[in-house]
Amino acid sequence: MAFQISHVVYAKKYLEQHPGMNADLFLLGTLLPDVRRVTDEVKRKDTHVLHEELNLEFHGATAFEAGWKFHLWCDMRREDILNKHGFYSLKYTTALDSVNKLLEDELVYEKYQNWEKLRWLLNNPPEIKTGLDVAQETIGRWYAILAKYFEKKPDEKTMRAFLWKQRKLRGQIGEIIDALKKLRENKKAVEILSKVSEEILE
Ligand SMILES: [Zn+2]
Repeated sequence: MAFQISHVVYAKKYLEQHPGMNADLFLLGTLLPDVRRVTDEVKRKDTHVLHEELNLEFHGATAFEAGWKFHLWCDMRREDILNKHGFYSLKYTTALDSVNKLLEDELVYEKYQNWEKLRWLLNNPPEIKTGLDVAQETIGRWYAILAKYFEKKPDEKTMRAFLWKQRKLRGQIGEIIDALKKLRENKKAVEILSKVSEEILE
């Protein structure tokens, strides 16, 4: 699993290699699955466990569906990469899952340049059929939360605001921010997290 800035950076890599793909719909698709973080209408498995085999085969899929599947594939690949580099054997990497995701988001924010355009899209998304039992309004709210989070390179204030909007993380904000400060000092952890988006499509 990754957080949303990282997912955008991964998608950018894919889109650079596949210029024929509709980038807007692919990005909206790749940012959808974690909508479950702001609603009880769906569980993780409803948005994340959809394919018997996870790969980058998008035949017959819309650009939106392709982006969605790409998200799931990246979640899996990210764990493989972190494990390969021994990330979870480093200090401060296992206590709270959100910590390493936030730090990765902070580290890779500048690898994507079109945040303003993407924020506009998220604030004005086209109507999309997701096939999920989630109100269109919930999806709109989730995209708007992301648009806000993408405003600038995350700092403590924007991170707190982003975490606050995810009910399950709301009670852990102080703990997460403290752990993040420690993890940021771990050079090896920073090095590995910075590499995920470089290696994700290799
Ligand atoms: Zn995910």
